[in-house]
Amino acid sequence: MDRPICPPKIAIIGAGIGGLALAIGLTRRNVDYTIYEAGSQFSAVGAGIALGPNSLRAMTLIDPRLMELYKGISRGNRSPEKAHIFADFMLAEPGFGVNSGWEGAPVGSKDFTKSGAHRKDLLDIMTRLFPTENVRFSKRAVEVRQTGQKVVIQFADGEAVDVDAVIGCDGAKGVTRHAVLTENYPDHVTARYSGRYVYRVVIPPTEAQQALGAYADDGKMFLGPGHYFALYKMSGGRLNLVAGRQKNDEWTHDQWTQDVTREEMLADFKGCDPRLIELLGSANPTRWGLFHHPSTPTYLKGHVVLLGDAAHASTPHQGSGAGQCLEDALVLSHLLAMVTDTSHLEAAFDVYDAICRPRGQKIVRTSNEAGHLYTLTHPECGEDITKVVANANQRFKWIWTHDLEADLKLAEQQFAALHG
Ligand SMILES: Cc1cc2nc3c(=O)[nH]c(=O)nc-3n(C[C@H](O)[C@H](O)[C@H](O)COP(=O)(O)OP(=O)(O)OC[C@H]3O[C@@H](n4cnc5c(N)ncnc54)[C@H](O)[C@@H]3O)c2cc1C
Repeated sequence: MDRPICPPKIAIIGAGIGGLALAIGLTRRNVDYTIYEAGSQFSAVGAGIALGPNSLRAMTLIDPRLMELYKGISRGNRSPEKAHIFADFMLAEPGFGVNSGWEGAPVGSKDFTKSGAHRKDLLDIMTRLFPTENVRFSKRAVEVRQTGQKVVIQFADGEAVDVDAVIGCDGAKGVTRHAVLTENYPDHVTARYSGRYVYRVVIPPTEAQQALGAYADDGKMFLGPGHYFALYKMSGGRLNLVAGRQKNDEWTHDQWTQDVTREEMLADFKGCDPRLIELLGSANPTRWGLFHHPSTPTYLKGHVVLLGDAAHASTPHQGSGAGQCLEDALVLSHLLAMVTDTSHLEAAFDVYDAICRPRGQKIVRTSNEAGHLYTLTHPECGEDITKVVANANQRFKWIWTHDLEADLKLAEQQFAALHG
């Protein structure tokens, strides 16, 4: 394919996993861009990220070096026979269910290999794969508007730039979602509270081993009515613990995080096994409200397009949000590499929307269902742990086995058909 004579000027807003994955994909495909990031540096916030096989395939297809670097920072289950297990499903009650006859049951698939890393380590390896001079830090976009064929980005510091296209990777609360949806779909702009919040803590290997013994070796879910604990290994053998609570009431705090007292945090898991309570005790008592976009009718408006959480913020119950960032970035970078003229941009964005949005939307919906499954409030499975395990064993296959190379072929065909 001929390279563009006058390549489009592309701005990426946001340097999270979505923005960086796109930057890597575009760099690999010789497409120029600038990233505008509100923070003064790459983010170091967050804990563990678990990635399914679809995410790892996306990494390889974006740039095989990303996958190679990821191998160096990621961890799977400790026991070789558990390599393909997402998690053993136990109960959170004292004795983990063993006292009441439940020995635990595996959820996984031969198509899956357990893998997780610390978000900071992931961002660190990603930043090695594109020129950092392409990033402008401390640039908070406050407005994005299309004027004719150009898009103007207004920044909080007073600067305005005009570009041919904006890729909004600015997360669930970003300004690009407003630019794309406010006019035609005003009810779909704002993320909704899912009725669930989590506490998060990263536990050093020795502490995890002391508290849980062999239970700390491999991925585990401990489930109870209205609550769950998810545990898995990540970089350096540390244990990522997410303790979730379902309450169904409104989120009244003005931020998406809320500091509470240690007593309030532990009261959320009253009656759970003391080993879990001990591990949770070392967490900062901060509630992370889980917000999501239940529906996003389109990912684009003119030359502004959404990617990652800006497009489809999801609850984390299927460990798929970052994976969808990688998939989006793969398809969009592949399409943008075929754009030889700015007049092709809308066709590229239409194809991206057609390929990525149905899958992204299904992830948001099924992930929220999984939240009900783990808190034993799923309408079909309720507190029947056997049904919960059976449901979980069916739930992930379509996510993990998705054929990304077929997506890329389809993208090529549809793009060629649209721009003639
Ligand atoms: C508790 C929890 C656990 C999770 N676990 C997993 C997991 O195990 N596996 C998984 O795949 N996913 C997981 N996720 C989801 C995953 O973290 C997200 O889907 C992913 O990080 C989203 O990346 P992003 O780049 O789209 O957005 P973000 O990470 O939100 O990045 C957005 C970037 O844009 C910048 N920005 C925002 N506004 C502006 C602006 N106006 N101007 C300029 N810059 C701006 C921000 O500073 C930030 O750097 C989890 C999420 C949560 C909450």
